[in-house]
Amino acid sequence: MEKEGLLFVVSGPSGVGKGTLCAKLLAELPEMALSISHTTREKRSGEVEGKNYFFVDKETFLTNIENEAYLEWAEVYGNYYGTPKALIEENMFHGIDTLLEIDTQGAILVKERFPEAVFIFLVPPDRKTLAGRLIHRKTDSEEVISRRLAALDSELERMPMYDYVVVNDELERAVMDLRAIYRAEHLRFENTKSYLSLKTGGEN
Ligand code: 5GP
Repeated sequence: MEKEGLLFVVSGPSGVGKGTLCAKLLAELPEMALSISHTTREKRSGEVEGKNYFFVDKETFLTNIENEAYLEWAEVYGNYYGTPKALIEENMFHGIDTLLEIDTQGAILVKERFPEAVFIFLVPPDRKTLAGRLIHRKTDSEEVISRRLAALDSELERMPMYDYVVVNDELERAVMDLRAIYRAEHLRFENTKSYLSLKTGGEN
């Protein structure tokens, strides 16, 4: 059987730079797929349907839950977000790695289903930087920003379930760290079959 694709789950507080970092990583690793989530939140200016998210109404989202269309879903900062199941399963089956950028509640659910997935938590260098980033990106109202900052402590509490922590202080450095994790995970004994050709009479 073909080797299954790996799942990389990236979480981190709002404003930590998940989007930018994941986009950079994907540009460097064209063999990796990005899972595009469904969300009920308003589209931000500059966001593109099917690229950043699939923007759906609440009714559609609830119907999808009933139809078990999501691998996981959660209510985050007052909106619903969910990972469509079909693409993940297809990618895994075909040996394609998939990156999921989801919140900590969703990550817990993915871990229950796929304990072998790789869990990465992104942190800002400090709280002040995080608040500054949220304010400067000018995509959210003051109320939304406060709600997102208020969630920080409960998000940090879930950090111990992650395999890796990457500090997003300097972007290039953080991308290098993510690449190192990607590489290391592919070199894990259970994720490689390259040793087989070395065994006597072994065929790869
Ligand atoms: P944003 O509104 O800033 O795009 O995302 C808000 C939060 O929702 C982020 O923490 C993001 O990682 C998370 N999120 C995005 N898609 C999903 C998803 O499919 N499932 C879950 N559980 N969280 C998601």
